[in-house]
Amino acid sequence: MKAIAPTTLTYPIVETFHSIQGEGTWMGVSAFFIRLAGCDVYCPWCDQKESWTSKLSPQQSIKVLGEAAKQANPTIVIITGGEPLMHDLWPLTKELQSLGLRVHLETSGAHAFSGQFDWVTFSPKPFKVPHESVYSHVNELKVVIANQKDLIWAEEQAKKLHPEAIKYLQPEWNSPQSQPLIFDYILDHPDWRMSLQMHKFLGVR
Ligand code: SF4
Repeated sequence: MKAIAPTTLTYPIVETFHSIQGEGTWMGVSAFFIRLAGCDVYCPWCDQKESWTSKLSPQQSIKVLGEAAKQANPTIVIITGGEPLMHDLWPLTKELQSLGLRVHLETSGAHAFSGQFDWVTFSPKPFKVPHESVYSHVNELKVVIANQKDLIWAEEQAKKLHPEAIKYLQPEWNSPQSQPLIFDYILDHPDWRMSLQMHKFLGVR
């Protein structure tokens, strides 16, 4: 049991915003995003490079973050990054859940697991191997696919999860060849599903 942290505790924040979850099982629901700063995975195609360093990001207290999330009245709160597991997520998740909010995590799993979540989306990257503590918490696996090699990585990661985890292959946005690759793969491997980034098609965050 973790001790209650003071609500003055802060995290480096790239941005918070209210939108619609664009990917995976919860696609389409009202979501309040908390994007934490800091990532040491360095994916070459990353579309959040401004989140790699936490030095330039303002600190926000868990009290302020909780109030903003509650005010938005979303279906879910999504803690994302950057790589959110670079931070101890226990205090933030406890504060959000104490406000009656449903809390989700989106992580590459590159650091030890922390926090208490209602849903965990695991998006492992071959550029930094995931921490073993993450696998048992995963509700959905979402692997970004740019080429054939990524499909092998996806299968390797899927083997480490419990059988109920939902498995998605998601085309890398700037690799158009990945769409037919995934399409054909799923016809032959029906235990996988395709995830598309709805928010990018809509032109929203
Ligand atoms: S893990 Fe996410 S934030 Fe980090 S480099 Fe990869 S895509 Fe970007």
